Amino acid sequence: MAFFPAQDSSLPAKSLFSQSAVLVLERDFPSSDISYLLFDARSGTLLSSRWDDPARPIPLGSLVKPFTALAYGETHENKFPSHFCRGEASGCWQVHPHGKLDLVSAISLSCNSYFRALAENLTGEQLIPVAKRFGLDPPDPALSGPPLMGLGDRWPIAPIKMARAYLELYHRRDQPIVRDILAGMAQSARNGTGKGVGEAMKREDALVKTGTAPCTHLHAAPGDGFVIAMVPANQPELLLLVRVHSVPGATASLTAGRMLRRLEE
Ligand SMILES: [Zn+2]
Repeated sequence: MAFFPAQDSSLPAKSLFSQSAVLVLERDFPSSDISYLLFDARSGTLLSSRWDDPARPIPLGSLVKPFTALAYGETHENKFPSHFCRGEASGCWQVHPHGKLDLVSAISLSCNSYFRALAENLTGEQLIPVAKRFGLDPPDPALSGPPLMGLGDRWPIAPIKMARAYLELYHRRDQPIVRDILAGMAQSARNGTGKGVGEAMKREDALVKTGTAPCTHLHAAPGDGFVIAMVPANQPELLLLVRVHSVPGATASLTAGRMLRRLEE
């Protein structure tokens, strides 16, 4: 599979792809409920976008979880707990228990119970070095607990910075915690919260993280769904960040998968 023409990486080929990507996405996904940023994952170039002010920080929900995990690892000698999610009873978004989880499955399922445990004793101060390294808007140093794993609206981040932070994550794929995070994102596309991407693309070769956050649109809904998808999983060529108004992140992952499928055709 190749999203780009298999010739040398000359600029004309890329700008041609960029123009056709814009046309395809505008034609087939015209809904104003859908916002997106599409990047060339290898160069970091923004290929196409529809997003009012992507540099304005907004709550991005569970998209922050990989960075929460990194801050936890760095302050706990890279040792992660084995956690038992009891569902709603232990503060998860899912009513039914996720059961026993490690970091890989917790990323795949975006388990709030697991990440509440990680964030419990973290402070914004401890997240700042990670935020800096990945180019994210830093949290308030005094922040602690659930806002640091993406609950609520107290750690807003610019969508354009978040997309680039995931490209940086992939660049650091050989680092120990990052390896588990990326394994969790691959698992997410197969049978986690990002499986809509795998289903819509009709193959499960993607790295996906989903999130749900308080809506910041003018006509506010209870929440917006977010998806970061990098394809293919092995040496990504594209990174797509999608926001869908008024749906959970897991539902938004279907939209992201359909967009990627159309780009691939
Ligand atoms: Zn859970």
